[in-house]
Amino acid sequence: MAATEFPAAELEEATRLLESLLRIDTTNPPGNEKAAAELVAETCRAAGLDPELNGVSPDRPNLTARWEAAPENRSGRPLVLSCHLDVVPADASRWTHPPFSGHNDGTYVWGRGAIDMKGFAVMAIAALTRLRNEDTPINRDVIFAAVCDEEAGTENGSRWLVDERPDLLGGDPEYVINEVGGFTVHQKGRRFYPVQRAEKGVAWLRLTITGKPGHSSLPAVESSVQKLARAIDAIATARLPWHAGEEARAFIEGFAKPEGSLAQKIAPLLAHPTLGPHLLPLAISDPSRRASMEAILRNTATPTCLHSGTSTNVLPGSVAVDIDGRLAPGQTAADLIGELTAVIAPIAGDSARFEILRESEPVSFSTDTPLFREIELALREADPEGQVVPSIIPGFTDSQNYARLGATCYGFYPLQLPPDLDFASLFHGDDERIPIEGFHWGIETLTNLLRRFLTSAPGSK
Ligand SMILES: [Zn+2]
Repeated sequence: MAATEFPAAELEEATRLLESLLRIDTTNPPGNEKAAAELVAETCRAAGLDPELNGVSPDRPNLTARWEAAPENRSGRPLVLSCHLDVVPADASRWTHPPFSGHNDGTYVWGRGAIDMKGFAVMAIAALTRLRNEDTPINRDVIFAAVCDEEAGTENGSRWLVDERPDLLGGDPEYVINEVGGFTVHQKGRRFYPVQRAEKGVAWLRLTITGKPGHSSLPAVESSVQKLARAIDAIATARLPWHAGEEARAFIEGFAKPEGSLAQKIAPLLAHPTLGPHLLPLAISDPSRRASMEAILRNTATPTCLHSGTSTNVLPGSVAVDIDGRLAPGQTAADLIGELTAVIAPIAGDSARFEILRESEPVSFSTDTPLFREIELALREADPEGQVVPSIIPGFTDSQNYARLGATCYGFYPLQLPPDLDFASLFHGDDERIPIEGFHWGIETLTNLLRRFLTSAPGSK
């Protein structure tokens, strides 16, 4: 039951705003987030906030709007509600309704960005508008951020904000609420709500293999191209070492219900570096869920871009492949390079060299905080039979940058989903859409969370 009945007219208005926002094409690249940021700014102003647009270029602004607590009420560092307004490309020929139509069929609002993550922009605005209308005496500043450029690596967006204008994020925010979590996962008739508290790190690498250049009319015994092909195959099929940290264990244990089940008994043993990989199939029987869990329990390395040769009749002296590496908590790019060097040593030996193109550390946040407890409470209130699970994701979000400001970041974008919706496939997939009822449920859940968290007295948490 909601703490306060949410006005139906405001929910309706939120749906309309989402439709409008989805009609603005913010495909990144190139992004073009300006029109979307201006629409969001307008709604912020309607809520009595004073939004600012700042960024590397005027076409790619980052919106920030600050709701200041009265000095006599202020008892904590700021809370940031963050979303990104850019979206990944969509191939219209594969969609039921055009990806930038904002089509509302009465059950779903369709459009690229409905889930990832214009829906949360609207949700946050609706919640803040409601709380401001109620004259909520907030105990810390709340900053709403709608950034650009998340989907292409965050450079012009949250990374720029954190590096160049942390003041716009309150300087040293204590908490950030961002994507990916708070949605319903249906499993064997039960409902789970993962709340993200960790993200894998990034290690984009280039592997270069050198060999003797020459005329390709005289086949070499083993050319750099052949070695690279074999190295790519070895890397793509390797199962790198097991790194079952606390984050992965809590995630698996959270889903291993009911109490006393085989899965629950096995969960604590999954940390074992040699037994773990053999026990995982007993804990998670579904192959696709197991595959995504495996990606969290290991470093991963996926070869993507090839750089080889300039002419068909010339054997290149040096060839390369870029590798999208992802790091388990506690791991570094150097650790991953060590693991990959062992994989390709029999193939490439001394002729191989790795370089780091980009590295950002894995991030992990404690769940032993007042905000996490309030999130659990809010979800339990909104769905008493649901089970909250602290989760870790294999990808990265803007939280990777916010963490550098010392903020504790959670993925909490509450959405109640029907059992027949394949939610995971909607992220960056075809026919992205958001269930209207579940979206409204999310607005109420977020509002109730914020109302309570932002008015609780210090020490009472
Ligand atoms: Zn996203």
